[in-house]
Amino acid sequence: MTALPLIQAAPAQYRRRSALPPRHLADLDLAGRRAAVAALGEQPYRAGQLSTHYFDRLVRDPAAMTDIPAASRDRLAADLLPTLLTPVREQSCDGGATRKTLWRLHDGALVESVLMGYPDRVTVCVSSQAGCGMACPFCATGQAGLTRNLSTAEIIDQVVWFAGAAARGELPGCPPRLSRVVFMGMGEPLANYARVIEAVRRLTDPAPEGLGLSQRHITVSTVGLLPAMRRLTEERLSVTLALSLHAPDDELRDTLVPVNQRWKVAEVLDAAWAYAGRTGRRVSIEYAMIKDVNDQPWRADLLGRLLAGRLAHVNLIPLNPTPGSVWDASPKPVEREFVRRLREAGVPTTVRDTRGREIDGACGQLAAAEVAQ
Ligand code: SAH
Repeated sequence: MTALPLIQAAPAQYRRRSALPPRHLADLDLAGRRAAVAALGEQPYRAGQLSTHYFDRLVRDPAAMTDIPAASRDRLAADLLPTLLTPVREQSCDGGATRKTLWRLHDGALVESVLMGYPDRVTVCVSSQAGCGMACPFCATGQAGLTRNLSTAEIIDQVVWFAGAAARGELPGCPPRLSRVVFMGMGEPLANYARVIEAVRRLTDPAPEGLGLSQRHITVSTVGLLPAMRRLTEERLSVTLALSLHAPDDELRDTLVPVNQRWKVAEVLDAAWAYAGRTGRRVSIEYAMIKDVNDQPWRADLLGRLLAGRLAHVNLIPLNPTPGSVWDASPKPVEREFVRRLREAGVPTTVRDTRGREIDGACGQLAAAEVAQ
């Protein structure tokens, strides 16, 4: 028998550097925060104080945490509150009720998030990855490819930033409490599975461990990564699942959502029904209406047959323009006929508003192109 050579750890300078940011309070649960605080030689109850500031009062700036003595504060902030997001550009429309922020991350990667205020609710659309590897040809994010996954805290910090803005009354005519989070910004959330699930826990844990949002008010959207959908079904979460279907037939979906070449329409729908069965939650079927591509009456009928009698709801999204795209949104009469046929088949159907279009903040428009400065 030949002895196996000893495997030695590579010296630090040769190890592949993780592009993930330094650890942050929001990466840890309360027990983890206590341990981290104790490791700094600080009293464990400081973990509770930091958590109350960040998750309850939505204070992100350590200098404002004045109930903690300055020396301790500096030590704690250096270890647990690194700057994760630096705003590069803020845009707004709808009289300030829709806001898009472009962030620079610690390594220079760029992501965007969008805040949407309504009279009865405030929703933030977060990014889960810088870029996206799914390559859907009608989506601006898909064109640039994937840069990297975001950490749990990079996801949470997007929400806390906007929750703070809402609490300060910066959204005219909207409630001061941010109540919904949709994982519909840049990236494929289920391709960054563990960090996204951890982020869902942090969003829904009661304050001050987390933000105390309702699981039902959180939507995770996917192109249909089958193994991850099955895993999600086993998590015992009751978040809303959205499936970006965009075509009822494999031939077309293979081109619109390339991951369909691996996992087919019938399989992903089965996984969606399993999720609905386990959680009792209606699955949202996303369908961008693309003129002369996927908007034919026969496709509406086929979609209706696939979804009839299921715990599903169709969300039609008028195609938003993206740079270089040859495609247009379906004309309104075509859209109306598509809706009519789905409803006739007994499938609840709504058309999504095109919030944020003027600031390239609508579905599929997030591309994180930096302005020349
Ligand atoms: N990767 C996940 C999360 C992104 S959600 C997913 O695809 O589900 C963004 C939603 O906007 C998806 O349903 C996506 O298919 C849709 N979308 C992408 N580009 C669009 C465009 N140009 N117009 C309208 N919707 C678009």
